[in-house]
Amino acid sequence: MESALTARDRVGVQDFVLLENYNSEATFIENLRRRFRENLIYTYIGSVLVSVNPYKELEIYSKQQMERYRGVSFYEISPHIYAISDNTYRAMRTERRDQCILISGESGAGKTEASKKILLYFAVTCPTNNHMVTLGDRLLQSNPVLEAFGNAKTLRNDNSSRFGKYMDIQFDFKGATMGGHILNYLLEKSRVVHQNHGERNFHIFYQLLDGGDDDLLNTLNLERNPHSYRYLVKGSCARVSSISDKNNWRVVRKALDVIGFTAEEVQKLLNIIASVLHLGNTLFGEGEEGETYIITETQLSNLLGVDGSALKEALTHKKLTAKGEEMISPLNFEQAVSARDALAKAVYGRTFNWLVEKINQSLALKVQEQFKDASVIGLLDIYGFEVLQHNSFEQFCINYCNEKLQQLFIELTLRSEQEEYETEGIAWETVQYFDNKIICDLIEEKHKGIISILDEECLRPGETCDISFLEKLEDIVGGHPHFITHKLANGKTRRVMSREEFRLLHYAGEVNYNVNGFLDKNNDLLNRNLKEVMCQSENQILSHCFRREEVIDQKRPEMAASQFKNSLMKLMEILMSKEPSYVRCIKPNDTKQPGRFDEVLVRHQVKYLGLMENLRVRRAGFAYRRRFEAFLQRYKPLCPETWPNWNGKLADGVSALVNHLGYKPEEYKLGRSKIFIRFPKTLFATEDALEA
Ligand code: ATP
Ligand code: MG
Repeated sequence: MESALTARDRVGVQDFVLLENYNSEATFIENLRRRFRENLIYTYIGSVLVSVNPYKELEIYSKQQMERYRGVSFYEISPHIYAISDNTYRAMRTERRDQCILISGESGAGKTEASKKILLYFAVTCPTNNHMVTLGDRLLQSNPVLEAFGNAKTLRNDNSSRFGKYMDIQFDFKGATMGGHILNYLLEKSRVVHQNHGERNFHIFYQLLDGGDDDLLNTLNLERNPHSYRYLVKGSCARVSSISDKNNWRVVRKALDVIGFTAEEVQKLLNIIASVLHLGNTLFGEGEEGETYIITETQLSNLLGVDGSALKEALTHKKLTAKGEEMISPLNFEQAVSARDALAKAVYGRTFNWLVEKINQSLALKVQEQFKDASVIGLLDIYGFEVLQHNSFEQFCINYCNEKLQQLFIELTLRSEQEEYETEGIAWETVQYFDNKIICDLIEEKHKGIISILDEECLRPGETCDISFLEKLEDIVGGHPHFITHKLANGKTRRVMSREEFRLLHYAGEVNYNVNGFLDKNNDLLNRNLKEVMCQSENQILSHCFRREEVIDQKRPEMAASQFKNSLMKLMEILMSKEPSYVRCIKPNDTKQPGRFDEVLVRHQVKYLGLMENLRVRRAGFAYRRRFEAFLQRYKPLCPETWPNWNGKLADGVSALVNHLGYKPEEYKLGRSKIFIRFPKTLFATEDALEA
């Protein structure tokens, strides 16, 4: 039978480290393309799994396939997401060390699908704990719920996750799943009130309208037609042929039950979802003296569980405290519209956080379980590097997150390489790489970094605006080698920049950010009187989400970018304490078609994912390494001394084998438990000898 290694002309190599010309991007992409053509969507770079979205169902995820990968050594069979899952699980069990799997890639590349496959692998193959038979179910069922509330149809993906997600899966000493915990990052709240052409709001709204029964819609005072709701039609595509909102509604409804939401909680949750739709339909009129009033009558205040007239007042007036005195000032039309939208975003965003909290309660370990020796596998499914036509505050945060992950990747990869050399007793060979700390500092440094400057501009009294923020940036970080603006460039950049942009030279490439909206988005303000109304809500979800202390405490809450920065710092700490594995997802074309491999698009992603750098680090010393026993087992037929069985020390056997094969000293090194082979051609020659 043709082995994976000898079939390399047709299907490429299954591990990029085996490419002779490992510095060539063209060779790299050719290898990906060959494999993709053969439906081999997975390829390794050492222990990193590269995955290309097939955009069709492949028959490679069955239970039999799961069984094939159980307990099998990484290199023995073709690369697979199950191999990564299994390897991680076994490393956790045998080394007793917490693990994490970091999944990255651009929108539509297959991150969420990958994370679901990993979760399913654990749910199916791990032993079950008798007391907690339903935990695996709850873990799996958390996905449809979070996707309903946190995913949406975008131009790039019909099921795009609009939040970052990190999930811990906890295992007991027998290796059975016993708990889980989810951390969520930066939900794209602006989508609640606005969607670009061809995009939708979050799935849950459409699911409720399409799938909810008549009685339910009646109690929520909703009509079935999504076109009746202004918040649902901004992108002019309320219906999507590839999505069955009705079926998905059933799935979500059932998932909520499995996770343990009570009927009452579900009702309250749906009241909130409906109230957001009614908020969107709340319209304002303008009086003769410029005052604003509400011209629509809806069930809004009932659904929100708040006092109707107080809500009306709060949507059209602002409460200020000046010199210790409270003053009420009317909002003009535009201010009222933006207060309404701010309320919709706050209500939805906080409800999403509540949802995650509830799911976490349901996945939480029982108290007595915590004393047992638990190990953890973390799964990170988070937005990849984003370069859009217009890049705003959200892209800035997302790309900052990717800088941090890259930093972590470099640190951990180098660290684990170094550790391996050390344990194997092999001299360390220095690796040249780009350290992106300089960019992280530019963004996050206290007082001097972009986020600090943005915060200060938001707090500075007087007339501040997005442009004054840009000017501050020019003053303070203008001399930084990774920062440039139109003014600083002095016509010297190749790509034209507008006067409202700044450009960052990220590790993955240049991105221009338009400062429009930065201050507002960072401020993320909700008028105080709206908060006051909300914290008195009879809906317990809302009164839980809007705390009285927030109104009483005049201290400014942390701003959006700083909040994000702090949550990233915590995430880095969590990940640092674990042993990482990586899945890098690639989208083969922009049209969601099977079989199409768009080389330009793929090349971009190879660059943004830092795959060439990854390969270089991995290949710096040796192309290939394998444990003595595995090496002997495979190649012992090639040497009379080791065939049919070698009975001496493993290292001696490997020595005898490579001597017989004529390996030159510069071609390999023997560590304590592994052989390290410097060039792929040495290995291929041995493989060919085996086939001959
Ligand atoms: P986003 O950042 O927008 O959330 P993503 O990387 O999470 O994107 P997914 O939602 O996982 O992307 O994948 C997009 C679509 O691609 C899926 O809905 C599915 O149709 C298809 N897809 C992804 N991975 C696979 C796979 N392994 N097999 C078959 N289809 C896949
Ligand atoms: Mg996703």
